[in-house]
Amino acid sequence: MLDASVTVLPGIGEKRAQAIRNLGLETVRDVLLSFPRTYKDFQTIVEPSQVEIGVEQLTSGKLTNLTERRISQGRRLIQGQLDGSLTLTWFVYHKGPGMSYLLRKLQKAETLWVYGVAKPSLFGAEMSSPEFFLRAPRLGLMPVYPLMAGVSNDQRIRWVEAALKHVHELPECLPEKIRGARPGRAEAVAEIHFPKSRSRYEEARERLVFEEFFLFLLGLQGSQEVRSGIAHKPDGELVKRYRARLPFQLTKGQEDALRQVAADMEAERPMRRLIQGDVGSGKTVVAEYGAVKAVASGGQVAMMVPTEVLARQMVKRMKESLEPLGISVELLIGNMKGKEQERVRAALEVGDCDVVVGTHALITEKVNFKHLSLAVVDEQHRFGVRQRSALLGKGNADLLVMSATPIPRSLALTIYGDLDTTEIRELPAGRQAVDTRLVDPARRDDVYRYLVSRVHQGEQAYVVFPLVDESEHLDLKAATQEMESLKDGLLSSVRVGLIHGQMGKEKEAVFEAFAAGEIDVCLATTVIEVGMNVPNATVMVIENAERFGLAQLHQLRGRVGRGNKGGICFLLAYNLTPHSRDRLNVVRTSNDGFFIAEEDLRLRGPGDLFGIRQWGQPLFRLADLKEDQDILTKAALQVKELLETHSLAEYPELRRELERYEW
Ligand code: ADP
Ligand code: MG
Repeated sequence: MLDASVTVLPGIGEKRAQAIRNLGLETVRDVLLSFPRTYKDFQTIVEPSQVEIGVEQLTSGKLTNLTERRISQGRRLIQGQLDGSLTLTWFVYHKGPGMSYLLRKLQKAETLWVYGVAKPSLFGAEMSSPEFFLRAPRLGLMPVYPLMAGVSNDQRIRWVEAALKHVHELPECLPEKIRGARPGRAEAVAEIHFPKSRSRYEEARERLVFEEFFLFLLGLQGSQEVRSGIAHKPDGELVKRYRARLPFQLTKGQEDALRQVAADMEAERPMRRLIQGDVGSGKTVVAEYGAVKAVASGGQVAMMVPTEVLARQMVKRMKESLEPLGISVELLIGNMKGKEQERVRAALEVGDCDVVVGTHALITEKVNFKHLSLAVVDEQHRFGVRQRSALLGKGNADLLVMSATPIPRSLALTIYGDLDTTEIRELPAGRQAVDTRLVDPARRDDVYRYLVSRVHQGEQAYVVFPLVDESEHLDLKAATQEMESLKDGLLSSVRVGLIHGQMGKEKEAVFEAFAAGEIDVCLATTVIEVGMNVPNATVMVIENAERFGLAQLHQLRGRVGRGNKGGICFLLAYNLTPHSRDRLNVVRTSNDGFFIAEEDLRLRGPGDLFGIRQWGQPLFRLADLKEDQDILTKAALQVKELLETHSLAEYPELRRELERYEW
């Protein structure tokens, strides 16, 4: 039953099954193993006059003094009071003359239940944009699942309830000795969805986090094949010519990286190197250098990037820098004519093509190389260890992994334990930091007018909305509505392209049109691809900036000001607490991705009841790298011990789980 399609669950037909498949829910097992993002404490209802500041809580009372006023074009502020003691505020988008939909809805309520965080205000406490209910909600600990387009949390809860009938079929994957006194797997999974108490929840969570780390680390160690590598030749004529053609002086960080890559590649031992460098630090040069070196030694190079847009961009760049040296460069992506794919594959097989840049299409079985000697994986966090291994499996290649996601040093060691790490810490000289400003929402119209004025000067801009699943308040519909309203309002005089969170292929088309300059402003509910390089884009507006992680904000703004004109980034925050102001100020005042990543960890929000998962990249389903370092250490010890004393063959369930595990 666990492997049955989600269509066996209530309310899931073929169409919906298709839609949620893209989000990783295919089988009953997937539903069981997609854990709540957080919980709402609906255990008690607090009196409005008794709400505590800074804690999420449920309160209820009589709703009075309801007002609505316009604060900027299309944007309104609704205010009301609960039992005359707690102020409630909501921001809405409404352009027409009449009342907003939300106001009409609230007017129907006499008693209102609201759930949110109160902050101090001039007259007692205030809750800003709380969730509200016109009828009493069910009490208890409510799981909150990552949001999906067209799926409500209540629906998710019903699916989980149905799936839990089969939870006992989940096999225990941890060997008994390693599991110790921890709860069993099925028991822990049931508990994590509907905790019966805080202590049961914590036991269950510890077990699942341990399991996650254990499998992750085991997967890493397991992928460390002990093969002998290729000893590439020392730099010769071709490499010298490549370096002579570079239009700029390399930074010290780049020079160091090249030296390390040279040493690795020339050694017999296979290279396994991670290049970590902030956005714009110039990692591509390192990859190109490695590529030239590989080709000079008679090898071939495969470079894997996460999306087709990025592949196209990269191939263009590589062609410009490598083809003049007589090195052939080809593109291989799924969305390419079959004939063309065949041609490239044939060229790779006989060795006519030196360098291939592509997406996952590179790791399909049909792709074979004559002599692959260097595999490059760009934006590493988008690929799993298995995909990395699959690419390596195409040859006996050296591996170069590049990542712009700065991970604090302490954590990098554990996560990328199998890779040697090089950091490129400085940006090329003369690179201007993106001018970042925290703007009062009252000046929102000015920000957009400024954006439009830059567009009229021939520049381009991004407007970014928070990731859909980061918040259940601002759902996809609201974000989409807001985008539409900008398009018809403040941005009506420019060419706008919308990218909605759950768009498929069309998303890439919009990005490409933007890159080609056919669109002036790119509005996206999703994070703009790391690595997107549109030098003409100079302005970025980030809506609800307080909802993003700091590292994420830093990555995002790295998309602008890549050309010779400086970039400017406006952070619009509508619910600014002193804490979120501190956080945003880190990004405003620093341009050091590593520092920002450290601060991001240090300044984690107080979180709610059990803490929200905030790490930018969902590397783990449940584990939090900062909070769970103790568990990580335990898991690392156990993995080491297991590998030293036993063979995985002794544990079939563990092996099966390892194969299933995606990260
Ligand atoms: P990332 O590390 O984000 O992948 P890229 O390799 O895309 O960075 O480089 C960003 C931009 O900086 C490119 O346009 C590249 O040509 C340029 N660049 C790289 N190294 C230098 C350098 N040492 N001096 C000046 N510009 C550089
Ligand atoms: Mg890059």
